Amino acid sequence: MSTKLAGYSETVICPYNKCHVILKERIQTHLVKCARSYPNIQLEICPFNATHRFRAEDKARHMEECSSREIFDRLHYQVGNSVTSNNAPVAPSSQSRPRLQVSNDCEENWDHYDFPTYDPQNYAKNANVLRSVPLLQPSERRKFADEERKRLSELERRRQPRNHRRDDSN
Ligand SMILES: [Zn+2]
Ligand SMILES: [Zn+2]
Repeated sequence: MSTKLAGYSETVICPYNKCHVILKERIQTHLVKCARSYPNIQLEICPFNATHRFRAEDKARHMEECSSREIFDRLHYQVGNSVTSNNAPVAPSSQSRPRLQVSNDCEENWDHYDFPTYDPQNYAKNANVLRSVPLLQPSERRKFADEERKRLSELERRRQPRNHRRDDSN
């Protein structure tokens, strides 16, 4: 049998601050708060899932990796292709795009900082809104969170303008 715990809440890493680990069912609310708290961070919204936000330059990659895309495609298959993928808001000024201000220490304490909790009742209550997202097993979820953190910090490191531009792709 699968080790998947049906009532185990999923968490996502806030795109505005990777130190924010947020329950999936609360990410929508959190994103609204965080967007206000980081007015200088202009993120685009995924056309497949409003809780996916990313910088404009990450859009192409997100479109390839988006976990909601497959589900979205399936859902809209019968309705037709009426939804375009170009309706995401565009950052106002692409030249002076601010860099994500992410600190390396995650000690910042937010009042809406959440940890995963096991709450079957809460899960049932939120099952409707969670249904569009595939459930990962706890080990996968942990791995994903780790990789996501690594990826984000890697991206940040590459973006440091003062850094050497060593490209090993050759
Ligand atoms: Zn946040
Ligand atoms: Zn997405």
